[in-house]
Amino acid sequence: MNETNGTILYMVVPCYNEEEMLHITSEKLEEKLRTLKNAGKISDDSRVVYVDDGSRDNTWNIIEEMHHNNKVFNGVKLSRNEGHQNALLAGLDYARNHADMIVSMDADLQDDIDAVDAMIDKYHAGAEIVYGVRNDRSTDSAFKRGTAQLFYKMMKIMGAEIVYNHADFRLMSKRAVDELMNFKEVNLFLRGIVPLIGFKTDIVEYERHERIAGESKYPLKKMLSFAIDGVTSFSIKPINMIITAGFVCFLISVGMLIYSCIRYFTGDTVSGWTSLMTSIWALGGLQVVSIGVVGKYIGKVYLEVKERPRYIVDKYLDS
Ligand code: UDP
Ligand code: MG
Repeated sequence: MNETNGTILYMVVPCYNEEEMLHITSEKLEEKLRTLKNAGKISDDSRVVYVDDGSRDNTWNIIEEMHHNNKVFNGVKLSRNEGHQNALLAGLDYARNHADMIVSMDADLQDDIDAVDAMIDKYHAGAEIVYGVRNDRSTDSAFKRGTAQLFYKMMKIMGAEIVYNHADFRLMSKRAVDELMNFKEVNLFLRGIVPLIGFKTDIVEYERHERIAGESKYPLKKMLSFAIDGVTSFSIKPINMIITAGFVCFLISVGMLIYSCIRYFTGDTVSGWTSLMTSIWALGGLQVVSIGVVGKYIGKVYLEVKERPRYIVDKYLDS
């Protein structure tokens, strides 16, 4: 008997209004599980977990129907739409009680499910987290590609380390997911948190396809708020920038003071202009600096109330 075929794999798939995709997705995922089982890479107890993120269409009915027809499909239903990240977390939290390794992927199968084989191999080679990384973005529209690139660059400048071109297609060991649950923040940005878990990690490259059916549930508005959440959950650099801007304003006011004095003494000013110009800049600068300082304190409190673990223990040496 192969030593790996006792490993239980759960595939977590968040679904929001995916009625057009679910049948196609299920067919492919079931086939994938079957081949993996036959190859002795995973146990017969492996499952697909659909997380219905408060869909307004028939998504949950389809999941229920599939579960009744085939026990390989499990479901988690959220009470309302909580967004992709939270749906994913709900699925991971459920799956970790049953599985040894957990793969998360989108319902639209844009991520190549054949990359899962390589992920499992890396898991057996000792990796606790295996990132799926897209090797090209040619199937995306130029706009999506551009904004996505801007997003990664901005995140880096703002101080959040994320894996380039990795979305939420990844394999995590049960242990890694258990540790993930210790990150208590409400502003969830998994791509930023998962690298903080540590342990041995690896990547698998794959090509991303186009959506087969239905349309993107991430319109520009959601993408923007996702990006802003990503930055503000991970750094207080924006606040430092405000403070810098305030100082610059203040410096300009000093310059204005000197400049308007010169203009005053050369005699070509309306009376009152000098003091007005200087105080606008001085007050403006001071105000912005003050807001920035207050923001800095709020930022500190904000980082604290999240109660992240200060460190994670890999092993103990016990006798
Ligand atoms: N999704 C979700 N809740 C939401 C929005 C999206 O669970 O509020 C799911 C969706 O069903 C899909 C995945 O998140 O499985 C990614 O969404 P989508 O494919 O629409 O995003 P894109 O690939 O266009 O960025
Ligand atoms: Mg998609």
